[in-house]
Amino acid sequence: MQRITGQLTLKRGREKSVLNRHPWLFSGAIGRVEGKPQSGDLVQVLDSNGRFLATGTFNPHSQIRVRLLSWDVDEQIDAAFWNGRLQQAHKHRQQLQLEPATTAYRLVNAEADGLPGLIVDKYGEFLVMQSLTAGIEAQKKTILTAINQIWQPKGIVERSDADVRAKEGLPTIRRVASGEPPPDTLVIQENGILFGVNLLGGHKSGFYLDQRENRTAVCQPQHVANKNVLNVFAYTGGFGLYAIANGAQQVTHVDSSYNALELAEQNVERNGWKRPQDEYLAGDAFDILRHYRDNNQRFDLIVLDPPKFAHSQRDVPYACRGYKDLNWLALQLLTPGGLLATFSCSGLISAELFQKVLFGAAVDANRQVQIIQTLSQGPDHPVLLTFPESAYLKGFLCRVS
Ligand code: SAH
Repeated sequence: MQRITGQLTLKRGREKSVLNRHPWLFSGAIGRVEGKPQSGDLVQVLDSNGRFLATGTFNPHSQIRVRLLSWDVDEQIDAAFWNGRLQQAHKHRQQLQLEPATTAYRLVNAEADGLPGLIVDKYGEFLVMQSLTAGIEAQKKTILTAINQIWQPKGIVERSDADVRAKEGLPTIRRVASGEPPPDTLVIQENGILFGVNLLGGHKSGFYLDQRENRTAVCQPQHVANKNVLNVFAYTGGFGLYAIANGAQQVTHVDSSYNALELAEQNVERNGWKRPQDEYLAGDAFDILRHYRDNNQRFDLIVLDPPKFAHSQRDVPYACRGYKDLNWLALQLLTPGGLLATFSCSGLISAELFQKVLFGAAVDANRQVQIIQTLSQGPDHPVLLTFPESAYLKGFLCRVS
């Protein structure tokens, strides 16, 4: 069992977020620290009158000083605790009944599953785990044992190589944590479509699992059949493959990563499709969109799924500028009545702000834009009401006149 090594008393009037069960406690709210908690240790959080509020894990290196785990004074944070939270996440995923059509999905979505800093994704018989906080790092062995017991994977790959690890004072780790190493290209199935993923070398944990439902929604036959599709920020084909499956006439995939596009092309072949008409363009999306505009090229459906533009509050204005330019360019390339599926995965940009940015782009592009569907992350990436930051993926499917 993990021992509690410190007690943190909050400054007067700073208990609201803890009472509201927000799982992050920032350093500025903390008045007094008793004991000598080390990074990753368990601490108790008390209000300014010394009353117990919550238990969490401490990290002196991060502005998020404590990640809260429990609001029950009697709850022990031991192997049974970790096991219980993981079991619950497992049960919730079983209820989604994604298998057998889909063999890759998120099993544990960090804070939103009551496990701050822990992400576990399933890729067929393999799992990919990310430990993103000192608290998870300290309990990694116990957690790995529980993961093996619950899901019994062939192997677990650890991809603790996200930038946020640096903010936690943790090194980068990329390894096979237990069991067998996965094949270089593991084939998964999403809604019946095959994708090769590289678990040790790919982006994030190998595939953008959060876009599954959006790929279905955007690439329905009535949106794509016999249409020209421009799949910008294509990665390994994602939206483009769904468009092909549903009858798209021609798909152009654009990404800055040559390797990702190579895998996209292989993925098309993997599904048995012969598509000499499709294009794979490696380069900067902004440059390619500008080139198309200057050459009067038109598309019936454009998907914009860029990487995260805003990494900190300071980035937000620049990120908005980037989203605006991107959408402004894309709007100019759409045929009348065409569709734009546009996304932002910046947690710091709200759906409301993203909509305002899109409004600015529409006015400047002189196009009339109707939102026909609002999109977000899939149900295996739940959003915790007490942690609005967990709603990071926003998207709009728009009709453009
Ligand atoms: N739509 C994809 C996921 C996109 S992830 C899917 O459904 O799977 C974002 C992608 O943008 C990454 O593949 C990354 O290589 C690419 N990217 C990042 N910056 C870029 C740029 N400036 N131009 C083109 N592609 C870029």
